[in-house]
Amino acid sequence: MKKQKSDIAVLLDFAGSYKALTFLGLGLSAAAMLLSMVPYICIWLAARDLIAVAPDWTRAGSVARYGWLAFGFAVGGIVLYFAGLMCTHLAAFRTAANIRKQGVAHLMQAPLGWFDANASGLVRGRLDAAAADTETLLAHNLADIVGTVTLFVAMLALMLVFDWRMGAACLLAAVISILAMFSMMGGRNAGFMAQYQAALDRMSKAGTEYVRGIPVVKIFQQTVYSFRAFQQSIEDYSRFAGHYNAEVCSKPQSVNLTFTEGAFVFLVPAALFLAPGALAGGDFAGFVTNFAFYAVFSAILSTALARIMFASSGMMLASGALARIRTVTGAPTLEAPACPKLPQGNRVAFRDVSFTYAGAARPALSHLTFTAEPGQTVALVGPSGGGKTTAASLIPRFWDAAEGVVEVGGVDVRQIDPHVLMDRVAFVFQNSRLFKQSLLENIRAGRPQATRQQVLAAAEAAQCGDILAKLPEGLDTVIGTEGVYLSGGEAQRIALARAILKDAPIVVLDEATAFADPENEALIQKALVRLTAGKTVIMIAHRLSTVVGADRIIVLDEGRAVEQGAHAELLAKGGLYAKMWADYNQSVQWKIQSGEER
Ligand code: ADP
Ligand code: MG
Repeated sequence: MKKQKSDIAVLLDFAGSYKALTFLGLGLSAAAMLLSMVPYICIWLAARDLIAVAPDWTRAGSVARYGWLAFGFAVGGIVLYFAGLMCTHLAAFRTAANIRKQGVAHLMQAPLGWFDANASGLVRGRLDAAAADTETLLAHNLADIVGTVTLFVAMLALMLVFDWRMGAACLLAAVISILAMFSMMGGRNAGFMAQYQAALDRMSKAGTEYVRGIPVVKIFQQTVYSFRAFQQSIEDYSRFAGHYNAEVCSKPQSVNLTFTEGAFVFLVPAALFLAPGALAGGDFAGFVTNFAFYAVFSAILSTALARIMFASSGMMLASGALARIRTVTGAPTLEAPACPKLPQGNRVAFRDVSFTYAGAARPALSHLTFTAEPGQTVALVGPSGGGKTTAASLIPRFWDAAEGVVEVGGVDVRQIDPHVLMDRVAFVFQNSRLFKQSLLENIRAGRPQATRQQVLAAAEAAQCGDILAKLPEGLDTVIGTEGVYLSGGEAQRIALARAILKDAPIVVLDEATAFADPENEALIQKALVRLTAGKTVIMIAHRLSTVVGADRIIVLDEGRAVEQGAHAELLAKGGLYAKMWADYNQSVQWKIQSGEER
């Protein structure tokens, strides 16, 4: 099995051709670190020369040269550091852009049904935020890590040049500081960090729920304490955070900060210990300059260690972001056929079709078989949750059947080019959503190349005349802005105009009249007659009066077709349909009576 790629490798792959720029940036950052060490060596050289000529300072002519040299290298180091950051930033921004692009491109391949469970705005927002979260790591932290590693390697080399014992004393402090840092994050605390993150997630989710529920809270005069889950998640989080601070972090962090800020804690005792030997050895001046070097140099060590600290948090942020990105790029995709077949005609057929939603215990459909010929209307009826919507959504491949075959024009829908399939099927849902565009654009979405005249004709056919008449700019009125809103029934008629304009040979209606008031319903029924004339129609309706004329009625209960036939046949059978019909008539009767009483 292939070794799993590290998070950083995965992120770098997203950079594409900009990956090289990251490496260039890291190289520049390492070079910058080396340059920024040179001034310290200059200080050492200057100190050495000064001590050599003391107290006759006039002979110390070289000192000014060292000063300029130090200045030059310090500036050079800063320039290289910025150049490096420029490269890593360019690559990081490209990476974030590519993550967004690839994520969205992947989503375009996801089955439409996937978006029911994963609201598209939310997914896009999550992808966006996750992409942004990778920036700190790629643009700053990686460069800092490389810089610090370079520093340590260079320090090892410098130890050979100067006094290795004092060098070791400096390094020891750094190593202790790093160990303390890791003991907070890794090892037995790694699991704890995951728990902490989970507590944070739970709290933000419960917070969102709470904000959504504010209207309910206000109407029923409740308090925040009624949101048990929210309260619980806040308490959990504060307990975790408190525990993490007090039990896990306090000691290591004290040690870490002590040795980061006081990198010379071992240096001074080491120097005191070594001083007598140096005095006896005769080169006391050299010893003092070495000490001066390390005392000044330890400052650079502190800065580098502090950067590593930030790097580790950037790393956690990025791997969390990557996990979220994977939920998007891991979404299922619809397989497009390798050699698509063209449907012959417009018959829709289900052959022994079964389907179970991911994670569901019971199948939503089992062994459903029926045929709808062109010009025929097949109605799906049955109790709520019976599988009607599921069956309808298999036709345009919102989902793919697990067993059996759904055919359009004699061809398995999975063998049809998705564009061809979409062109053949028009869908009208229970509550149609309109885009925040003009009515013209909204209707034209059904057939983008349609002329204004054709759009108007479709709007007429869909009985939208009254809507156009009352809006200030008619067909060009933009929906959703400046107080222009349509009622559910009106929006439904606009959606029907869109479907009429599309003029697809197969029409799927899912409870298209469910939310309409009586006045709208009559208009919608008229529009439906225009939409469905001569088409293959699959119709889902809970008002049984609308299915009486259907060529075939299929009664779905718990995913099974329990009865099939025309209205009269089914009534004669005296089964589930007959009972539903009796109930339906009773409810209509009841409505009329209660209406009369008023
Ligand atoms: P109907 O349209 O007849 O009311 P559906 O086809 O919507 O019924 O639902 C059939 C069954 O599948 C129900 O048990 C429902 O809970 C389940 N179901 C519907 N949509 C989903 C989904 N997106 N994910 C999981 N289960 C679903
Ligand atoms: Mg339904």
